[in-house]
Amino acid sequence: MPINPTTGLDFSPAVGDMPLTPLQAELLAKAHALGRDKFAARAAQWDREASFPFANYDDLREAGFLKLCVPVSHGGLGADYATYMMVAAEVGRFCGATALTWNMHICSTMWTGVLADGIPMSETERSEHAARRELHFQRIVNDGAVYAQPFSEGSAAAAGKAPFGTTAKKVDGGWLINGRKIFASLSGAADFYGVLCTEDKGDEHPDARDTLYISVPATAEGFAISGEWDPLGMRGTVSRNLAFKDVFVSDAEQLMPRGIYFKGAQTWPAMFFTLSPTYLGIANAAYDFTVQYLRGEVPGEPPVKRRMYPTKQIAVAQMRIQLENMRSIFARAIQDAKPNPSKDEKMRLYAAHYSVMEGANDIARLAIRTCGGQSMMKHLPLERLYRDSRCGALMLPWTAELILDRMGRETLYESGEKDD
Ligand SMILES: Cc1cc2nc3c(=O)[nH]c(=O)nc-3n(C[C@H](O)[C@H](O)[C@H](O)COP(=O)(O)OP(=O)(O)OC[C@H]3O[C@@H](n4cnc5c(N)ncnc54)[C@H](O)[C@@H]3O)c2cc1C
Repeated sequence: MPINPTTGLDFSPAVGDMPLTPLQAELLAKAHALGRDKFAARAAQWDREASFPFANYDDLREAGFLKLCVPVSHGGLGADYATYMMVAAEVGRFCGATALTWNMHICSTMWTGVLADGIPMSETERSEHAARRELHFQRIVNDGAVYAQPFSEGSAAAAGKAPFGTTAKKVDGGWLINGRKIFASLSGAADFYGVLCTEDKGDEHPDARDTLYISVPATAEGFAISGEWDPLGMRGTVSRNLAFKDVFVSDAEQLMPRGIYFKGAQTWPAMFFTLSPTYLGIANAAYDFTVQYLRGEVPGEPPVKRRMYPTKQIAVAQMRIQLENMRSIFARAIQDAKPNPSKDEKMRLYAAHYSVMEGANDIARLAIRTCGGQSMMKHLPLERLYRDSRCGALMLPWTAELILDRMGRETLYESGEKDD
């Protein structure tokens, strides 16, 4: 494809064509090349074995992508929120499991970086945070460390409706962590687990405002990984169970000062939208495959053309309309993202998340129906894209159901309003 004058790229990025900064164009080109040349061919293996994409992480590390959102002043690439979201969609286009797990790692740098910068803190909290995140950024920049982000517990906590059952009790020089997590992507692959837990203040009243964000080294005593991992899709995420039994971590492992995570979740709702670019990437992949397949241009397949049938043409048009809608609302939401969005901005954000998570599976479903039986064989990527795409709407705290729930309630009730 010739260079597009709007983007400066010789391909159409998963996020769609739009004016890009030089850094965005450079990172998108790098992500596209990595995905096309390396990740795409490996994706079937992680899926078949339900194994972690270590080789992709070596490539991400080498490309500097583990430190993508670490500020330049700390040795990172200094990508902002919108830039990360565009690049993540490009990675998701070639390997969903890599993009989704990379998101967990990136969040550990965004929550401590850009998110924390937008949350009011006292001077003491700000300087405590600056010192601690320095250590955490250096692990990533100097040692190539990988962070996981376990918050799910199988209770109402991950939906934001109850305090986390995993607790941290203050002891001399650090914290004692107890509890368990489920669905911890990067289990066994991460060097550190950024755990969300509730401060145990010794009373019987755990409070979500006392949520702590603490990093547990994979080598910590009392930390264990268990459980089978054999799911429908996103099999390369290896999201198993974690147990913490009197795990001691030093004060330096506190990734945010006390009380700041809770404020952050309220101030920066777009942080939960970071799960969606993976699925925008998958939707692009299903669309790209369908066009190639109907044109008889899939490498290694007989060059049978199916494009002359009007029903195929209509289906491709429907897929493209849905993809363009998803790209547009996604692009608007990442440009709008900021602390304390207006009510309308928040509604658009919810709508964007819902549209991408449900839309990806709609596009993958149409792709299989349109391409037909031979297209869903295991040696082709479409059936994997279909299975992977089904997982997006299940991710807490913003499952498709909970988005509908929030949107309806927040539309009809202003903050604090009740019926008599
Ligand atoms: C591939 C994959 C990777 C994942 N990786 C991670 C990870 O790295 N870290 C992590 O912390 N989690 C991760 N998760 C977990 C994910 O975010 C959800 O926590 C998990 O899918 C919830 O499953 P559940 O069956 O426990 O949900 P349940 O809590 O049983 O809820 C089932 C459904 O009910 C609805 N629901 C839940 N609570 C409420 C409520 N209070 N009110 C109304 N409706 C409600 C929701 O729509 C939800 O989908 C991952 C999940 C998948 C599928």
